[in-house]
Amino acid sequence: EPAGYVPAVVVGSGYGGAVAALRLAEAGVSTLVLEMGRAWDAPSSDGKVFCSTASPDRRSMWFRTRTAAPLASFLWLDVVNRDISPYPGVLDRVDHPGMSVYVGRGVGGGSLVNGGMAVTPDRAYFREVLPQVDADAMYGTWFPLANRMLGVNTVAPDWFESTEWYQFTRVSRAQAARAGLATTFVPNVYDFGHMQREAAGTATKSALAQEVIYGNNFGKRSLDRTYLAAALGTGKVTIETLSRVRAIRRDPDGSYVLTVAQTDLTGAVVATREVGCGALFLAAGSLGTTELLLRARETGALPDLSPAVGKGWAGNGNIMLGRANHLWNPTGARQSTIPVMGINDWNNAANPVFAEIAPLPIGLETWVSLYLAITRNPERGTFVYDPATDAAVLNWSRSQNQPSVAAAKSLFDRVNRANATIYRYDLFGGNRVFADDFCYHPLGGCVLGSATDAYGRANGYDGLYVVDGSLVPGSIGVNPFVTITALAERTMARVLAQDGIT
Ligand code: FAD
Repeated sequence: EPAGYVPAVVVGSGYGGAVAALRLAEAGVSTLVLEMGRAWDAPSSDGKVFCSTASPDRRSMWFRTRTAAPLASFLWLDVVNRDISPYPGVLDRVDHPGMSVYVGRGVGGGSLVNGGMAVTPDRAYFREVLPQVDADAMYGTWFPLANRMLGVNTVAPDWFESTEWYQFTRVSRAQAARAGLATTFVPNVYDFGHMQREAAGTATKSALAQEVIYGNNFGKRSLDRTYLAAALGTGKVTIETLSRVRAIRRDPDGSYVLTVAQTDLTGAVVATREVGCGALFLAAGSLGTTELLLRARETGALPDLSPAVGKGWAGNGNIMLGRANHLWNPTGARQSTIPVMGINDWNNAANPVFAEIAPLPIGLETWVSLYLAITRNPERGTFVYDPATDAAVLNWSRSQNQPSVAAAKSLFDRVNRANATIYRYDLFGGNRVFADDFCYHPLGGCVLGSATDAYGRANGYDGLYVVDGSLVPGSIGVNPFVTITALAERTMARVLAQDGIT
């Protein structure tokens, strides 16, 4: 079979991939995007594109027989998860020995399943994490561009103060204040105008109908509605779905050749083909990109890749936890799925924590306050290539989460003391308070300035670029997609100006 040739290939259609596709197309470069998930653009027989969190079906998760939601139980009961039939659903949980990583699958990557929190990192911390990146250019140009392109907006404060849908947030804010802690509004890509219309009964409910981790049917400006819509609009971009890149090699003429497995909706491989390209942009996410490069290096296909590929991974210090409130402090049966506020104690030198106030949107009064804490954890994991399974295995032990647990505990012990409240033990299994076995923010594995140059060009190989979360060295102190998007914009501007991609 002769290899099909395209000028540029982008692997993955999350934040990095969407930026790369649009900017390549605008520069006139014909671009093929290969995405292992499906397109989420057509309703199923129930009239909806995505299933609801309350009654998940096969659309919810990536090839599983039972859902594996982050909040596994309630009152220690297995009431959250449901049996489903295997299907390329939108949310995947990739289980490594010491850490499970949640990722989105489909055209739009993580933007399909995430909470939409769109946070520009603290400038001093950004400089500390990525000292080789010009902070003036990031904060003057690339972060503002990313915010504009992603459609970032903020909840209207007067509506926030009065709506029943954010009572859970106001309760947590008051309790933080009693402990002397500051809270701050968190911007989002969910359209708050739409949300207010949902509340008023003039728009179909999505954030107000418990939809988020298995997709939002309305309201959210996911990448398929922003960057990817613009990319397709140029006529220069093709997106092929259910197409998983398995291997990368280089031909003597310098072009890259990808082995692509085409699957059907049962997961069976129906065809394997080769695609050649002049420029290759890896945007398969921290896990996906790192695995592709590690496999290429360790099998000898791209032997000159940096020894740093596979190193510098962490989950942004993610820890979830819940607190139990007094009966006179209800959090509300009606909760928006979209978080809008965080407790900001990042400048606490001993225990920096940024803790988002998360909903528990099950339609009942629970008296629970839930949080996603982002902590500063110096521990890093390493991916190792396992030839027996042809897969990258993450070397990360549960004990490496201990600094994150300690930081979260330090902050929420203060909140509990100030309010005479206690933790919940029933939410994450095993009577644990702190969920330290999963993360939403996988970062690193192909770190900017060590596995690549300062712009994401893979060391050792011209025309090979990394543009996703694998560039960020394990921690950024806030939710990461604005940073990933801004770094991808910076990379694309530079390589399109300098590298002669046609
Ligand atoms: P991704 O968005 O993960 O995209 C990678 C894409 O590549 C995927 O579509 C994947 O299917 C595809 N792919 C992988 N391997 C291959 C392959 N071999 N061949 C072809 N395709 C492949 N971040 C925030 O900033 N704010 C939030 O509120 C937030 N909430 C989150 C909630 C949840 C439940 C989850 C799971 C994540 C959340 N995140 C949030 C994290 C955010 O979504 C990720 O940081 C972001 O999506 C990473 O972008 P990326 O471009 O690196 O990769």
